[in-house]
Amino acid sequence: MRGKIDTILFDLDGTLYAKGKPIKSAVNVIETLRKEKVKLAFITNTDGWTVEHIHKRLIDMGFNIALEEVFTPVAAVKQFFADNKDKSCYLLVTDEVFESLKGLKLNDINPDYVVVGDFSDKTNYEEINKVFRFIMNGSEILALSKANYYFQDNGININTGAFVGMFEKACEKEAVLLGKPSKEFFNLALNRLGSKAESTIVVGDDITVDITGAKAVNAISVLVTTGHYNEEIVKSFKEKPDYIIEDITHLPSLLMEE
Ligand SMILES: [Mg+2]
Repeated sequence: MRGKIDTILFDLDGTLYAKGKPIKSAVNVIETLRKEKVKLAFITNTDGWTVEHIHKRLIDMGFNIALEEVFTPVAAVKQFFADNKDKSCYLLVTDEVFESLKGLKLNDINPDYVVVGDFSDKTNYEEINKVFRFIMNGSEILALSKANYYFQDNGININTGAFVGMFEKACEKEAVLLGKPSKEFFNLALNRLGSKAESTIVVGDDITVDITGAKAVNAISVLVTTGHYNEEIVKSFKEKPDYIIEDITHLPSLLMEE
């Protein structure tokens, strides 16, 4: 399929690396694909780290990846407003993310969109109520995550999705998710690359996130049986990946097949 493929979107955790280490010779896989001149992007739902932080981790693991190739929900927000230049927003995010979104058209009165991400460093009733009023007044919601909780060394923690759900319920409005598996997220990643879904492969370890997203935009989906892969879930899941490979090192030969 090499002839019709010009782009590959990679999941990170469980696909390129697991437990902080590259999966087998995943580093060489990227090098091989570079020689083939395929456009690459590395897409992740991680919204707690900046793109720079994620990029540095990949570099430290030995991957030859450019900063601009890392695509996160925050990068998707940038792309969304690059595609919708006249639209304004209010950002309910951490100071760090706020800094990295400099240049957007901010609006503190009647924004077209409210962006809801991790805002744990400024959670207070006034801030929440302000955003609630914006949405009741017509603002659309862009969510950086719909995950309700996450685990850390300190135990289970409430996550961005729970707050997004609160706004959705209170305002009877559905948020657009700028993360996997949403169609909008994958389309924004493709827009940034100037690529089309039909000439793109999405490769990941999670059928519910990576494969569902690939199917939503009609890209070619490749499931790897590393990381989160679970045979039972894959068997019973409604979506079927186009290809299943043992791990990422089998991707170049799949690409070169007729
Ligand atoms: Mg994964």
